[in-house]
Amino acid sequence: MSVLVVRGAVAVVDGGGRVRTGDVVSVDGVIVETADLTDAIEMDATGCVVTAGLVNAHHHLLQTAFRTLPGTRGIPMREWLPAMAAAYTKAGVDPELTGLAARAGLAEALLCGVTTVADHHLTWPCGADTVGMARAAADAAAALGARLVFVRGAARDDPQEAAASADAIVRALLPGIHGGVSSDGMLQVAVGPAGVHSDSRETFDLLGEVAREHGLRRRTQANEVVDVEIALERYGARPLDLLEEWGWLGPDVTLAHLCDVTDDEIARLAASGVSATHAPGCDVPMGWGIAPVRRLRDAGLAVGLGTSGGGSNDAGHLLADARLAMQVSALVGPQLPASEVLDMATAGSADGLGRPELGRLTPGSAADLCLWDVSGVADAGVADPVAGLLWASPGRRPRTVIVGGRVVVDEGRLTTADEDEIVAQLYERVRR
Ligand SMILES: [Zn+2]
Repeated sequence: MSVLVVRGAVAVVDGGGRVRTGDVVSVDGVIVETADLTDAIEMDATGCVVTAGLVNAHHHLLQTAFRTLPGTRGIPMREWLPAMAAAYTKAGVDPELTGLAARAGLAEALLCGVTTVADHHLTWPCGADTVGMARAAADAAAALGARLVFVRGAARDDPQEAAASADAIVRALLPGIHGGVSSDGMLQVAVGPAGVHSDSRETFDLLGEVAREHGLRRRTQANEVVDVEIALERYGARPLDLLEEWGWLGPDVTLAHLCDVTDDEIARLAASGVSATHAPGCDVPMGWGIAPVRRLRDAGLAVGLGTSGGGSNDAGHLLADARLAMQVSALVGPQLPASEVLDMATAGSADGLGRPELGRLTPGSAADLCLWDVSGVADAGVADPVAGLLWASPGRRPRTVIVGGRVVVDEGRLTTADEDEIVAQLYERVRR
């Protein structure tokens, strides 16, 4: 039995906005109320705020290899999509590149306090070893000690091939498992077309069938500018009308982006039980809009937070995007308080993944946690340490990160891999 006790924190954010002081105790990777601490490993959290590990509900890890590419900024989404696609073709997306990009993106995630990443993988070249690509991402996560939700996406893929590949991936990565989550909770598989702007009803239908057969979560992207434009052009309907008609609004579905939604659509989304992922670190710099998070949450939707990929948001720093979410919220309604946005970046994201055991520090939750040192000059004078966690010290990184009771970041450095080697291998592969 492995017992860990984290002591002396300035504040412990439990989840659901509850803040307390005192110990955080875990036994064999699970948070408990109390335990026999005789042989416990003690961790000193003096000067730190302790939170649950952050959950990045929307990333495209492959794009970690394609950050700040010339010709991909300041252009409309219609031009951005083919510009990115040309870069993928030039680099040749295969298991090696998928693994190296995932390794860099997941290492960055852990160093930023993100313990779970949902990787919506959308690039599947014709004839590619798709199981090999998924396995490469899963192996990278396992080696680093990060939790991964691998989403078998599609973007103009042949519908039959996409579905056959999704089925093969879940059988290979989670053999004999129904429900899409490994027994240790470290790996999850889900499915998700890129959106109605790129994929046909047949792709949604067939990936939906794979999800039903294996009990997987479904995800897609909806209502960025181009999504609405193309849906109106092609079908004479808005994306959410199509998703509703195609059976893709339900409690097992999460929609990323949702920049441009009407009040009527928000009411229908809430009634369907669908959840949402806000990704301001992508939507704002790309000019796609700002999701009306306050109205979504007031309507009863679970809203999580995601960074989206390196092709639009060049960082996978979810806490920085939580800060941005607060800043821009005031442009589309009442400002979101820090505690609420932190809840979105933890429990809200976890709920959208169907993982209520993540993103919280309540008894029974996974022992995924971050120690954020708030004792430095950038936090001096802060009255509310939880608000300060998000508002003060932009770009803040945690001192210690624990996943399932295991320390994966110590004193701000990875314990599970050589950071320099991760960087060098990715540069070598993309020849930059
Ligand atoms: Zn996205």
